[in-house]
Amino acid sequence: MKDTIRWTIDIPLSAQNKKDINKAARLIQQGATVAFPTETVYGLGADATNENAVANIFQAKGRPQDNPLIAHVATKEQLMQLVQDVPDYVGTLIDTFSPGPITYVLPSNGVCAVNVTAGLSTIGVRIPDHPVAYQLLLQADRPIAAPSANLSGKPSPTLAQHVWNDLAGRMDGLLDGGPTGVGVESTVVDCTGTLPMILRPGGVTKEQLEQVIGEVKQDPALQHSKEQPRSPGMKYKHYSPEVPLWLIHGSAEEIQQLIIQEQEKGKRIGVLASEQTAAKLNAPIIYSLGSNMSEIAKALYHQLRSFSSEAFDLIICEAFCEEGLGKAVMNRLRKAASEYMDLNK
Ligand code: AMP
Ligand code: MG
Repeated sequence: MKDTIRWTIDIPLSAQNKKDINKAARLIQQGATVAFPTETVYGLGADATNENAVANIFQAKGRPQDNPLIAHVATKEQLMQLVQDVPDYVGTLIDTFSPGPITYVLPSNGVCAVNVTAGLSTIGVRIPDHPVAYQLLLQADRPIAAPSANLSGKPSPTLAQHVWNDLAGRMDGLLDGGPTGVGVESTVVDCTGTLPMILRPGGVTKEQLEQVIGEVKQDPALQHSKEQPRSPGMKYKHYSPEVPLWLIHGSAEEIQQLIIQEQEKGKRIGVLASEQTAAKLNAPIIYSLGSNMSEIAKALYHQLRSFSSEAFDLIICEAFCEEGLGKAVMNRLRKAASEYMDLNK
């Protein structure tokens, strides 16, 4: 067991906060693991150029060895120092969306350790948009490899407490910078072709990308689950709550009927729905995720973590429209769900 240090960081950063982030940056330079907030979710970071340090991330999370990590950097210049053969459209994407919730997959030039890319010739790189992440990257003065700071398979952490619950004693430090903003992870875009291709939907939507650079492709595996996904992480079951989750496409009336039917079997049911649908439902525990997609994305992982198997037998969750940020939300919910039902069919 490690003695995990936890620092509380306020935003804007005080002089003391900067000193604490400096201590965390020294730990990173020494090969340690430190969790930190980004605008999407919390990441578990280590020096991306140090193979042993990166191995500690895989170990702490129990992450499969073939699932590559995203390298985080502070600036466009630092990003360019990790990659080669960059198509012109990447410059436009970086200037428009970075810092922000978007990861560029590009040919690696070998500066980062081989286990960051899980042996692939490409590397995922991103500039996070968060003052704590920025300060940590500046002071560590090197790329930081950081997957989401949860135990592998669990919902990603949007609060420092989620990280603590999963990884206290398994990592060296935690920068607690409060709740994260977007709530779902970055959009992963393969930029090795003449047209960019979305491998994982996330905080920057396909519609936003297309407004800036025109046609953007999407990994066919995102639509047809039989295809092998091009992003190794997408093949794993993820985000699993402790309790089985049924994802239901249907009207409030149809969802209500299902709730009654399952209650009659003696099941203790929790419901997740938009504010509008929640208002029409009747069940002992109903959590409203919010009234629009950005609220729903922000609340999703926290609510998935809030159901314990001691108190619940089944989570019934409304399926949402797969437009804009709804694509990322539904991608995560499908992975979290043990059943998907379309009651209109
Ligand atoms: P996480 O940091 O836990 O959100 O996971 C990072 C995601 O980015 C996973 O789905 C990875 O498979 C994906 N990823 C990272 N690097 C690459 C790469 N070089 N090629 C394709 N996907 C990648
Ligand atoms: Mg993850």
